[in-house]
Amino acid sequence: MRVIGVLVLLLLTHLVLANRSGHAQDVWPQAALVAVQCVALWAVFMRWRRSAALIRLPWLLLALAVLMQVLWAGTNVFALLFGDKSGFLAAMATVLSGLYVVPCMFMVTRSFARNEPRIVAVLDLVLSCMVAVLVYKFFTTLLSGPLAADPNSIKLVLFQADAIDYSLAFMAILRLFGARSFRWRFFYFTASAYLLVNAIVATVYNRLELHGLPWWSGSLIDIPHALLAVVAIRQPPRWLRAYRPPLTVSQTIASFAPILLSMMVVMLGISSSRINFVPGLVVGCASVLFYGLRVAFIESRNMDMKRAVDLSALRLEQQVGRDPLTGIANRAALDTRLREALEEGRRTGRCCSLLMIDIDYFKQYNDSLGHVAGDTCLVKVAYALSSSQVRTRDLVARYGGEEFVVVLVDTPAETALEVARRLAASIEHLQIAHPSGPHGWITVSIGISTQALDAPVEPMALLEEADRALYLAKRNGRNRVEAAGDTASLDTGRGAI
Ligand code: GH3
Ligand code: MG
Ligand code: MG
Repeated sequence: MRVIGVLVLLLLTHLVLANRSGHAQDVWPQAALVAVQCVALWAVFMRWRRSAALIRLPWLLLALAVLMQVLWAGTNVFALLFGDKSGFLAAMATVLSGLYVVPCMFMVTRSFARNEPRIVAVLDLVLSCMVAVLVYKFFTTLLSGPLAADPNSIKLVLFQADAIDYSLAFMAILRLFGARSFRWRFFYFTASAYLLVNAIVATVYNRLELHGLPWWSGSLIDIPHALLAVVAIRQPPRWLRAYRPPLTVSQTIASFAPILLSMMVVMLGISSSRINFVPGLVVGCASVLFYGLRVAFIESRNMDMKRAVDLSALRLEQQVGRDPLTGIANRAALDTRLREALEEGRRTGRCCSLLMIDIDYFKQYNDSLGHVAGDTCLVKVAYALSSSQVRTRDLVARYGGEEFVVVLVDTPAETALEVARRLAASIEHLQIAHPSGPHGWITVSIGISTQALDAPVEPMALLEEADRALYLAKRNGRNRVEAAGDTASLDTGRGAI
């Protein structure tokens, strides 16, 4: 409330001073304008200080834009107080009003996306600076020298200034309706209020100036600054909190924002090429080139990110179905593959078989050599089972503990028995020393079950059947293969293979 009181006081003082001097551009009315602008600068600065880290940059840019205005008006006051014979201060004021465009353009056209490559921000900054230089050159060429006497030159400058001001205001409003976070909406609400009112005031003020400024006209410039101070310090309106654009709208506007910068620069380049042909052409071409570069950099970054995402998705996919110790398929992958194999067998009439493999006396192995050696043994057995012993269509999985399961698609019981013998032999040939085992090295027992084609078989039923056969193999002395049902069993001891 106190700030509003100070503002009202300053606005009234400005009017009174202007009325008493009878001239809008006198030193004291101008000083009052600087005071109003300083209040606006202070209000924005306070917002910047209180804002979260992510949104500080746009508030800082807005503060910079207002600072340019303060410096511009301050330079005018300085010139009035101390004179400006060389015209240096007048030129400086023009530079400052041109520089005002840089932070404004930057804040309304940048996407502020966190993952944007840094080089893109640099390109945008370079482009904004090129605009400032072009605007300065354009204005100084038209407003000094022989062209200054031509009313068409003045008109061109006015149209150019209007085009810049309204484009900035339009873009800020668009960003306001495209912001999904309330903090960003509040920032763009403040910025668009300031830029729009500033554009309207500038249109009116510049037209008035053509016919000689009335005494009260300086107060017009107070309006956008007073408004900015009020909007920045007051609570945001309620609708701003309630409104939330859909994600697609927000993304479209954020991606569209940078093209507006390039478009504005091209427009500026074309319109000023009449007066400053080479700079106009250079800036117009640079704008198109920079836009192409910006798209290329972002595209390249997106491709990198997509590749990384694809890779981690692949790794995750691989890990989900893998046993972390042995690297072969785990229980989850086994369930899926077994279901598929049974379905395939039912459809084609070619049954699948299942081997349940268990390491003999593994507890004793662990007890005598330790769990680390036990783990190494499991890895070796898993490797021996999976490498070259089965077809690629078959699956070797760790069922749990020291038990493994092999799914053999399109394999009748007799063939499964042969495969089981081969696998048992390959484990034995590893000759992994088992100091407390009856054979002196690691052996396995295997139970076999085969899909019956006359009735549907559940995966669990087939596993239970193989487990029963395995139990039989254990009971009959271990280091054996046993098949479920009536199929012949076989001693896989050293002599039998
Ligand atoms: P059997 O011949 O009847 O199969 O006897 P066994 O000792 O092999 O079977 P038992 O079920 O009595 O013991 C299995 C052992 O396997 C006990 C457990 O400590 C060990 N084990 C299970 N998972 C792991 C593992 O991931 N690493 C190690 N090192 N040992 C494991
Ligand atoms: Mg076991
Ligand atoms: Mg065992």
